[in-house]
Amino acid sequence: MNKTKIDWCDSTVNCVYGCTNGCDYCYARKLNKRFHFIDNWKEPEFFPERLEALTSKKPKAIFMDSMSDYGLWEIEWLQAVDKAMAENPQHCYIFLTKTNKKGTKFKTPNVFFGKSITQGIYPGREEYFDFLSIEPLHAPVGINFDLLPNLRQVIIGAETGNRKGKIKPKKEWVDSLVKQCDKHNVRVFMKESLRDLMGSDFRQDQCIWYDMLNKENENVCWKYGLYKYIYKW
Ligand code: SF4
Repeated sequence: MNKTKIDWCDSTVNCVYGCTNGCDYCYARKLNKRFHFIDNWKEPEFFPERLEALTSKKPKAIFMDSMSDYGLWEIEWLQAVDKAMAENPQHCYIFLTKTNKKGTKFKTPNVFFGKSITQGIYPGREEYFDFLSIEPLHAPVGINFDLLPNLRQVIIGAETGNRKGKIKPKKEWVDSLVKQCDKHNVRVFMKESLRDLMGSDFRQDQCIWYDMLNKENENVCWKYGLYKYIYKW
């Protein structure tokens, strides 16, 4: 299990490396270039032995695809991940995707699914997404809350690094998102990359997975009981 600088979770466990989405600003691809986890970034590879890290006892909020996108994973990989998560209900598991396709179903209840976008108006009905990750924020975003009935949280962040063409968000873009979220009682978590831009308006509401983890019983996640599914589009 890796400690992480990502400020909305405790750790990352990456059992898949690689992604075909091709985002210009991809930090994971940059890391792969530096540390050479896999030969070809565009051909994701599965490392099932990494799932052993989930047996750690202390409950944590674990981001499961910081070096990939679960929407691109093979069914067998998803099934192996589901089994490992079900055997370790002490943690909460967080997944993000940019894709509009996929999958299998997870039987594990303590899983949170997020959709990752950077700009525009959020399209389509996506009832199984619990949160949106709007990072890096590249332009104003309008969220259609009616199409996201289970949306409970929005994470917002600025682009980091020194990429040529890097886009700096405007404060009014973030202010608009906060206003939309407040109107719909959706939590807002701003990443540290927005602290200077937002000044006294900087805000980090508690992430929804910590509602589960902060309960006394470390197996409490099971008591929430609702099974989450990833459906095929
Ligand atoms: S989806 Fe994530 S991992 Fe894939 S290219 Fe984009 S930023 Fe990189």
